[in-house]
Amino acid sequence: MNQSIKSRIAPTPSGFLHLGNAYNFLVIYRETVVRRQGKLHLRIDDSDSTRVRDEYIQDIFDTINWLNIPINSGPKDLQDFKKHFSQLLKKDHYKAALEKVPGTFVCDCSRAFLKDNSCPCLKKKLIYKPGENAIRLSVQDSEIKKKMGDFVLWRKDDLPSYQLVSLIDDIDENINLIIRGDDLVDSTKAQFLLAELLNDKVFTSCSFLHHPLIKSEAGEKISKSQSEKNSSSMILKELRRDGTTREDLIKKFGFNSFEDFLNA
Ligand SMILES: [Zn+2]
Repeated sequence: MNQSIKSRIAPTPSGFLHLGNAYNFLVIYRETVVRRQGKLHLRIDDSDSTRVRDEYIQDIFDTINWLNIPINSGPKDLQDFKKHFSQLLKKDHYKAALEKVPGTFVCDCSRAFLKDNSCPCLKKKLIYKPGENAIRLSVQDSEIKKKMGDFVLWRKDDLPSYQLVSLIDDIDENINLIIRGDDLVDSTKAQFLLAELLNDKVFTSCSFLHHPLIKSEAGEKISKSQSEKNSSSMILKELRRDGTTREDLIKKFGFNSFEDFLNA
């Protein structure tokens, strides 16, 4: 087995983690550590700082301990994260990467306008002004353009976008195995395109594995975007408080035991 496999667990602290996150963490653990004897990096994606709260960051550490997942690198606790790992500390670094991307343009269209119209800003040659406009990539690939549009690289609130941050961190951390829910397939394609534009050799030689999302009791797929409307029965913090164990959790995912899950 290859000893140099490195994957990452990369949650966003914009709410308390839910069942879908636990399933994703456990699949990453199984595929990386159990099946490939690889190493795991913890990345807490706090680039969208408007929604981040300390209790959400703490919840990530509590969840990883509860699931008993071994982490080889990344922040050890909340204080360590804030001091050494917050993505806000790397803003200049993301900006420098952005400046190397060819084919970007400034756009001042509203989301409502873009719903019914195509963006006319490429020709306008606007100057980026925080609070007024955003920086987008002019996407040439028709399939990605159809799904993702000319996606944002730098936001109106002067923060790097998820697509840019996630890619740059994967490159910086030398990640070579990326495991995500299949709600992120289009994101992966967008990031791959961005990596190619940056002449990157790390992300473009990664292995990718997209797993199906688990379904809630109501039969809905549990994705990141649904975390806000989750019922308390799906929130891990609540489950822990009620004494739920990892073994109980795995049964909610339809497996008889943790052993069964590892062999699935
Ligand atoms: Zn526009």
